[in-house]
Amino acid sequence: MSRPKKKVYIKTFGCQMNVADSEQMAQVLTQDYVLTDRPEEADLYLINTCAIRKKSEEKVRSLLGSLKALKQQRPQMLLGVGGCVAQQEGERLLAAAPHLDLVFGTQGLHRLPELLRRATAKRQVDVALEEGFPPAQPRRWHPAATQTLVTIMRGCNNFCSFCVVPYVRGREYSREAQEIVAEVQDFVAAGGIEVTLLGQNVNSYGRGLAEPLTFPQLLRKLGDIPGLARLRFATSHPKDLSGELIALYGDLAPLCEHLHLPVQSGSDRLLAAMNRGYNREQYLQKVEALRRRLPGISLSTDIIVGFPGETEADFQETLSLMQEAAFQQAFCFKYSPRPQTRAASLPDQVTEGVKAERLARLLSLQDQLTLAAHQRLVGEVREVLVEGASKRSAQELTGRLRTSQVVNFSGPPELVGQLVPVEITEAHPHSLKGRWVAEPSPFCRRPEAHGSPRRLSC
Ligand code: SF4
Repeated sequence: MSRPKKKVYIKTFGCQMNVADSEQMAQVLTQDYVLTDRPEEADLYLINTCAIRKKSEEKVRSLLGSLKALKQQRPQMLLGVGGCVAQQEGERLLAAAPHLDLVFGTQGLHRLPELLRRATAKRQVDVALEEGFPPAQPRRWHPAATQTLVTIMRGCNNFCSFCVVPYVRGREYSREAQEIVAEVQDFVAAGGIEVTLLGQNVNSYGRGLAEPLTFPQLLRKLGDIPGLARLRFATSHPKDLSGELIALYGDLAPLCEHLHLPVQSGSDRLLAAMNRGYNREQYLQKVEALRRRLPGISLSTDIIVGFPGETEADFQETLSLMQEAAFQQAFCFKYSPRPQTRAASLPDQVTEGVKAERLARLLSLQDQLTLAAHQRLVGEVREVLVEGASKRSAQELTGRLRTSQVVNFSGPPELVGQLVPVEITEAHPHSLKGRWVAEPSPFCRRPEAHGSPRRLSC
């Protein structure tokens, strides 16, 4: 009789890349561990960390401190920290937290089982950065999974002056296309509907591969997989957004009509200081080209306020770009100096008070733009992929449009995991309200394994 598996609890901070990495941790540990959502019963507690802002790093340190008590109650439990903070701090983290058993970096995930075996005898640190893409791990899909994240590259060569990623995730490497295609085929064959491809800069995918391939060529290969209804990707660097990629919008059926295109600032002076490789005009030209290609495309972005040296005039440039680009959503953050980055040692650091005040103005403008974009959708019938029960009400379901907005509506729980038509009835600042219009719809049957999901034409 096989011995019962131990339990692993994984706490994930940060971006979708970290969510994908946590999934990979669970996969590589599957022989010995099952996931639990109850930390108090864990035999192994892993924290997957984010170092993108000082605040996220502080949250990790605070959680680590609070786990001293749990470790005292369960001394046999192994406690490990992985991800970007682990990569950045290495031995220092182990020295600062005597109750910590294991520190592992962003690229050692496939070495985790071996590392854990060693950690039972002696505390371990593994923050080696490797060349190339790590060996593929076979993935098992949950029978109810309709959406998944697929990592297509890792690392970054861009060295934006504010960003710690090239230091904690290493240089850029692309994953072989046939592995990516096989993974997506498997997922769709198991009933999957939506795939999000992940990389720090997906637009430079393919460089250095034995058989070079551009990102749009990869998208075309994936777009040919029968049954894949929705294809998304993140993140896309504006300087590498090609005409070839723009031309796919409206042409490649599964490609969702949404693009996340981080601009960071509207000021040419600051874009140069950030080492972004484009200026305001070039960014807006790409936005215009996207809108010419597909007028209904929704655009989201990232913006940093209070970058060193940012003046009120620079900030006004950001506000005006935001209006010109009419983003449907913007993730706005106060600049946070990061170790090793060039911007951390720049003069004229902006005070926290000014950053907070500018952030509030930026968010207020974005709220107006988002609400206006939501109001334009009222009355339309759109395809929604139903993700589960709404957070606000157990009687409501929640899902997303292809253009990425969240829609809440009433409907039976059997709709979860299906593509259904929903009429948008109300616009709110952060979500939409809708009405399910087909009861039952011939289009919204959940595909059986190996079947093809049927898409709506709305
Ligand atoms: S493109 Fe710039 S912001 Fe994005 S991960 Fe690379 S260095 Fe960081």
